[in-house]
Amino acid sequence: MTTSLSPELRHPSVSTFTAPPSGDGTCLVIHGGAGGRLSELALGGPTSDGGSDAGSAWADGLRAAHEAGERVLRAGGSALDAVCASVAALEDDPLFNAGRGAALTASGRAELDASVMTGEGGAGAVAAVRTVRHPVLLARAVMERTDHVLLAAPDESLADAWGLERVDPAFFVTPARERQLADVLARRAEASRHGTVGAVAIDTTGRIAAATSTGGMVGQADGRVGDSPLIGAGTFARDGIAGVSCTGMGEAFIRGAVAHEVCARIVHAGTTLRAAVEGTIAAELGARGAEGGIIAAGAGGIVAAHNSPAMFAAFRDGEELVVLT
Ligand code: ASP
Repeated sequence: MTTSLSPELRHPSVSTFTAPPSGDGTCLVIHGGAGGRLSELALGGPTSDGGSDAGSAWADGLRAAHEAGERVLRAGGSALDAVCASVAALEDDPLFNAGRGAALTASGRAELDASVMTGEGGAGAVAAVRTVRHPVLLARAVMERTDHVLLAAPDESLADAWGLERVDPAFFVTPARERQLADVLARRAEASRHGTVGAVAIDTTGRIAAATSTGGMVGQADGRVGDSPLIGAGTFARDGIAGVSCTGMGEAFIRGAVAHEVCARIVHAGTTLRAAVEGTIAAELGARGAEGGIIAAGAGGIVAAHNSPAMFAAFRDGEELVVLT
């Protein structure tokens, strides 16, 4: 069942949810984008399969993705494996703006961006990927198999050598996204920002990892890269401090180095994770006319906060799996 919690509003216009670590010390929080529900309903996807209502279709996807990551953590797996499992599950779900079902560029292409970071300092990212089924796994491979952090429009035959699944670019393009693009280009609809996905985890050894994956913004210029594959903007992790994954108006997250800013506030201003997340949203988004959401995990547990009308997220609070839609 979907849980509807009332968010605490301590910072004007920032809605915040918190939960402590699980009994074994692990944490896992995932998001499915921050925006408004109406624009997603216009997509038609959630209501067109089996007559389920939009909330439960999105909630089902979030629940399955959370379970995928939690299974890893409960088996003693690493935070990195957990965030990759959750994000890859959301990349496979056509309702979310990542992997199959990603938002389309102005020319109708799916250009996929993703990043991962470990709290030990490992980082990998890809931008404008067109044929790798799970961009988050390609980002991980960049981290683990190259000396680089970010590959843009990479030679995707590398993925074959790295044992990653390739697909035809058409695999990512769904009819719902094509309709949405047509509506946005004809100005019948606003460009939705819902659906970018991310995950942050802490494993039983205390190691932190974060990952983010997206198709970007509907109707964006071909080649536009947002915050999601940029370490420090859309994704950041530092053991002993926090892991962070962001969603929302990417340019604002880049300008504010938002994911890093959350950690910097904890380190340099000595704030709690919650205060760091809320303060960053207020200063770098709200005060600059931008909207979005942040998920984060640190010693005190998880935080999910947004100044957009809604954010899709899932996390465990005690025994209860909380799903925000
Ligand atoms: N931040 C993403 C981007 O700008 C979009 C989103 O989060 O929905 O590409």
